[in-house]
Amino acid sequence: RISEETSGRSEYNLRSPICCIMGHVDTGKTKLLDCIRGTNVQEGEAGGITQQIGATYFPAENIRKRTKELKADANLKVPGLLVIDTPGHESFASLRSRGSGLCDMAILVVDIMHRLERQTVESLNLLKMRNTNFVIALNKVDRLYGWKACDNASIVKAMKQQSRDVQSEFRMRLTQVVTEFKEQGINTELYYKNRDMGKGTFSIVPASAISGEGIPDLLLLLVQWTAKTMAERLTYSNEVQCTVLEVKVVEGHGTTIDVILVNGVLRDGDQIVVCGMQGPIVTSIRSLLTPDAMKELRVKGSYEHHKEIKAVQGIKITAQGLEHAITGTSLYVVGPDDDMEGIKEAVKGDMRSVMSRVDKCGEGVYVQASTLGSLEALLEFLKTPEVNIPVSGIGIGNVHKKDVTIASVMLEKKKEYATILAFDVTIAHDAKELADKVGVKIYTADIIYHLFNQFKAYIDNLKEEKKKLVAEEVVFPCKLKIIPNCVFNKKDPIVLGVEVLEGIAKVGTPICIQQSLVDIGRIAFIMNKDKSVDSAKKGQQVSIKIIGSNTEKQQKMFGRHFQLEGELVSKISRRSIDILKANYRNDLSVEDWKLVVKLKAIFNIQ
Ligand code: GDP
Repeated sequence: RISEETSGRSEYNLRSPICCIMGHVDTGKTKLLDCIRGTNVQEGEAGGITQQIGATYFPAENIRKRTKELKADANLKVPGLLVIDTPGHESFASLRSRGSGLCDMAILVVDIMHRLERQTVESLNLLKMRNTNFVIALNKVDRLYGWKACDNASIVKAMKQQSRDVQSEFRMRLTQVVTEFKEQGINTELYYKNRDMGKGTFSIVPASAISGEGIPDLLLLLVQWTAKTMAERLTYSNEVQCTVLEVKVVEGHGTTIDVILVNGVLRDGDQIVVCGMQGPIVTSIRSLLTPDAMKELRVKGSYEHHKEIKAVQGIKITAQGLEHAITGTSLYVVGPDDDMEGIKEAVKGDMRSVMSRVDKCGEGVYVQASTLGSLEALLEFLKTPEVNIPVSGIGIGNVHKKDVTIASVMLEKKKEYATILAFDVTIAHDAKELADKVGVKIYTADIIYHLFNQFKAYIDNLKEEKKKLVAEEVVFPCKLKIIPNCVFNKKDPIVLGVEVLEGIAKVGTPICIQQSLVDIGRIAFIMNKDKSVDSAKKGQQVSIKIIGSNTEKQQKMFGRHFQLEGELVSKISRRSIDILKANYRNDLSVEDWKLVVKLKAIFNIQ
């Protein structure tokens, strides 16, 4: 049994919230984390701050001291705050716990000089997807021209020290940032003005990771807010909840896993089950390690051993058989009364939940990612309506020959999907060779957006090429009315002034008389006010030249085969409609498609 006093929870029975730092590269994520840790960590005087495996722990006492100035030190209901050490959205993506995000909260860092950037938007999408709350650190305020440094002061106090010019530049830049967030569908407000926090308006904390302004505000906001709004989620539970952060080979220990223990207790010798590439891995904890507090942080590979560890903690676990463990999955402890099969099923469920997103029967690309979490994030992204790329297969880990073989199945079904989108993984040499040989495309990137852009460019290119191929056969729908007194030539060739009643008149379109369905030839030329054009839209009046097809001995003639009253329409066929649908779906408006339907009826096409 765990003794109540040492279980790492507050008197409110809340556990420490877990926080992740996200944002675009170079916005200052690492620097911000360093700054929150404070310089005294390096000097060995940590003020209770402890370096854990993969995370840094800030006890409430430390936060209380550092936020004194904000006069809000009364009651921090959580015992402390755990910040994940690897910043970035890729790491956030892989941090999962029992089907939802591991992080209770995130800091989204935005550079005040650069505003929203690509990865900011990507991070935002991930946060929305996981339904994770966040605060925005508007970093680098010290770069405002003329900024007077007020080391580690609250932002309200620091702002008061600034000149009018600095304040006005700040307001201008803040407004831009708020506007850009709004464009992403996110309402934001300076945190001390935000009355709507937690109800749809996100807070902005201006900060500097160099001189420390705004850091107390950020810390206080995180702990106060998490405790206030997430009491249920943060209520400590004895049931083990644990997520695998990383699988690492460590000299002298073999393959180890770094985990974050969110709830419950882990003990030396516990039987555990983790998710592996070939199914659940059942093993026993050989040792529970944390960085040696007595040693300098920079000395690597020096660990303290524990008999048992309570949540919340970042821990390194050594055990046998961890080689194929998958990061971003849950670790389960098998208790004396637990049903091993049930636990194995739960582990498989983790895998299955991701697998089930893949359309088994359908056609689509092959997706490969480094972790289950990032794979999941990537699949979610591909599914969003703006992206909408179908997936037929998935894999975790580096790309091998077998993955290329699976992807190559698409070569026969749909060539453009014979593609591997590889996220944050390496491609084995022989896999690359095989891909080149058989014609499977492999795209790699560390940023989800980049992958998408590469693939989109490829697809767009293919589409254009295909359009060129079918250009001869495609027929755009149009309905034309002959303008009186504008029959310039009755035959060989027919030259008429027409008004486009519906659809698009294009050069190359075969034309029929609507009433008799008599074929009078193809549009060879369109003139719009003395200018030759490729097409004319609804409402435009143009003159067209119609040339009879070569097979006809004699071209039809105005006055004999058709009259002024007759309307002209595109001559469509089953095949031309299919081509239109396959290649030009987005080139036609809803109205144009309605005309296609009408023409189908006129030509009695099934
Ligand atoms: P990351 O890629 O987001 O982790 O960014 P880093 O923490 O590595 O910071 C990128 C660069 O910005 C470094 O040169 C930092 O020194 C600088 N930087 C970070 N925060 C601040 C800040 O608040 N003010 C200023 N002036 N520079 C900063």
